[in-house]
Amino acid sequence: MTPLGDIIRQRIAATGPISIADYMTECLLHPRYGYYTTRDPLGAAGDFTTAPEISQMFGELVGLALAQCWQDQGAPGAFTLAEPGPGRGTLMADILRATRGVPGFHAAANLHLIEASPALRRIQQETLADHDPVWIDDIGALPEAPMFLVANEFFDALPIRQFQRDGQHWRERMVGLRDGQLAFGQDAAAPHAGLAPRLADTKPGDIVEINAPARAIAETIANRIARHGGAALIIDYGDWRSQGDTLQALCNHAFEHPLAHPGQADLTAHVDFEALAQAAGNVSHTRLTSQGAFLERLGITARAQALAARLSGTALQSHIAAHRRLTHPAEMGSLFKVIGLHRIGTAPPPGLEP
Ligand code: SAH
Repeated sequence: MTPLGDIIRQRIAATGPISIADYMTECLLHPRYGYYTTRDPLGAAGDFTTAPEISQMFGELVGLALAQCWQDQGAPGAFTLAEPGPGRGTLMADILRATRGVPGFHAAANLHLIEASPALRRIQQETLADHDPVWIDDIGALPEAPMFLVANEFFDALPIRQFQRDGQHWRERMVGLRDGQLAFGQDAAAPHAGLAPRLADTKPGDIVEINAPARAIAETIANRIARHGGAALIIDYGDWRSQGDTLQALCNHAFEHPLAHPGQADLTAHVDFEALAQAAGNVSHTRLTSQGAFLERLGITARAQALAARLSGTALQSHIAAHRRLTHPAEMGSLFKVIGLHRIGTAPPPGLEP
């Protein structure tokens, strides 16, 4: 058991089982032992890798898409360029490099990063030193201004609660103790007003997930966009509606039981894009689009060919592999999805048109 595992067991022994959301929050963000608090989890030496870490093409195309949105909305003279969960700052660095040539874009951008991890903030500070980023803890502290935002693999890190259907009622899945060890259990069956619509598309025994922080954050983003203009690109793995248990733990690039190593494994859940779109009800949302189709429409093939012309040998081989990894349906191309939010009456972000 890890040090954090002992802390969680003591807490449960003292006050009873905790929700999966509480468990995820402890594991990811505990001030001393949390997974994100203590380390840089990205890249070959870490536990997982992400699209911007695979290839610069990802951030370049996202950057040009955001700049296009900004131009489509009249190129507002001061706007927030925002990213929640920026990881190592790689995506934002690629966005900023790719948009250097867009007249006025950099001069108008105020960079805001929402990052909970002190370890990753330090890395972002180095990566983005030339761009005067402002770090905020809470998305509610975003300026009241037009906002162009990207979130890649951020929403999957937010804590979910799980409910298993029992007749017309629901039992929350909890983390408790069995023989002194962490174990999943269930709370008493109870009605759940928020889950009433799910009685129509589930049967007894099915599990559904609710991500309250994800909804609240989507709503805050949408409120800025509705009031001041702007757009958001949300990229993550998941689907239109949550169904089933999608909680997963990744440690050293391998899956493991979510209760095995609290604080030492990355815990994520699939993103329920329908829930985000509903929470963002006062702006328009695009169709949910696969990452592969999105990147193809933005011209990744042409960009990949241009970069390939300068490469040879193993560098060329890994560039070709990276292109495939981002777009191929058997890799990240269809598991990962993109949704765009934009002010009502404005053009949808490029790559996400109907
Ligand atoms: N977007 C990056 C990193 C994804 S990892 C990339 O694509 O490479 C998830 C990121 O979200 C990390 O930076 C992590 O520290 C941050 N994060 C997780 N939970 C958070 C929370 N509740 N508030 C702010 N940031 C959070």
